[in-house]
Parts: sequence; C-alpha cells; structure tokens
Amino acid sequence: MGGTFDPIHHGHLVAASEVAHRFGLGRVIFTPTGQPWHKQRTATAGEDRYLMTVIATAADTRFEVSRVDIDREGPTYTVDTLRDLQGAFETAHPGESAEWFFITGADALSEIVGWHDPDGIVDRAHLVGVTRPGHHLADPGLPDGVVTLIEIPALAISSSDIRTRVAAGEPVDYLVPEGVARWIRKRRLYAKAER
Ligand code: ATP
Ligand code: MG
Repeated sequence: MGGTFDPIHHGHLVAASEVAHRFGLGRVIFTPTGQPWHKQRTATAGEDRYLMTVIATAADTRFEVSRVDIDREGPTYTVDTLRDLQGAFETAHPGESAEWFFITGADALSEIVGWHDPDGIVDRAHLVGVTRPGHHLADPGLPDGVVTLIEIPALAISSSDIRTRVAAGEPVDYLVPEGVARWIRKRRLYAKAER
C-alpha cells in the first residue's frame, strides 16, 4: 500500500486490514513515498513519515514498512516501488513465488491511469480499489480483470484534514493511532497551516 502517509491515519490502517482479510494476504507492506511529485505542498520529511508509519503498524504482525521509496532518489513512481519490492523478495526467497496486490483508495484509483507506466503497474500487481467517503469508487477504464473493487468500513479521515486540525489546535485523537499523535506533538509537525 503506497501513500504519502503525512501522517498515517486509521483510514489507511482499516483499508490495509480489510484487504488483507478479504484476500487472505500474509503481509501488507506500507511504502511511504519519497518526494511526492503529484502533490502541491512539500511533504513532511520522509524520515518523520516513515517513522510514524512504523509506529502505527508496529503491533500488527501482518504489517511491514518499506524504505524503498524514501531511499530512492527522485520522484516516486509506483512501478518502481513494485519492481524494487519484487526484486527484494526474489533475493530473499529464491525460487519462491508470491502474488502481489496494490491497495488504493477510490481517489487514488481514479488517477492511476495518469500515473507513470500504468501498464507496468498492472503487469506487476493486482489492483484493489477500496471505498473512501467523498469519492466515487469505479474502475477508471483499466483492462478487464486487473482491478477488484471492495467496500470497506467508511472512515472520513484524510491526512490533509489532520494537518489542518493540528495547525488549528484541534484534536486528532482517535483519528490517528495514539503513538502517531504523540510523535506529531513531540516533533511539532504541522504547526503551520499547509495543505
Ligand atoms: P492527503 O490528504 O495528504 O492526500 P490521504 O489521507 O489521502 O492524504 P494518502 O497518503 O494520500 O492519504 O493516501 C494513501 C492511500 O490511502 C491512497 O490510496 C488513498 O486513497 C488511501 N486512503 C487514504 N485515506 C483513506 C480512507 N479514509 N479510506 C480509504 N482509503 C484511504
Ligand atoms: Mg491522498
């Protein structure tokens, strides 16, 4: 599951958990982006986004966080994420095979055809599009059989809203895991309103 995770919140975690359950996945790898090329604002330091993702997922044995995108120079393209993760898997488990899925919310799925090398993405992973409040979930015109759409419990939470709340001095308790809320306070993240 790719994302800016600026910060990670319970919407991301419910999406990952639901998809893991529905598809019987042994593992969900969260990949915080490097420099987010399609976003207007400058993201929080990769290291803070990475650490918050680790804090949020630490207690779940199914969840892992990968540094492939944080550590790669230049913009993050999902096709590179998948190539790097698959290469690392082949090195670590020679001769074994794995089935790969890429998890996206409805908003990200609708944009995927405009991403770099969408054919490369669908060659490497089966797409799973999940419902997200405020967004219409639909196949954005991908070839037959490359995407599955599923309904998940609706959490109207976004990282942008969390950043705005923090900047305004409003609470983010129960929107993000407690450790993430504490990390935001400790590092004084999002103090200035930036969307
Ligand atoms: P921002 O507001 O900064 O764009 P975000 O909340 O959309 O942040 P991202 O890191 O952009 O979070 O999203 C990563 C992935 O998680 C995307 O595929 C997105 O669609 C999905 N996602 C984010 N929030 C939810 C949610 N509440 N329910 C379902 N999917 C979500
Ligand atoms: Mg987003």
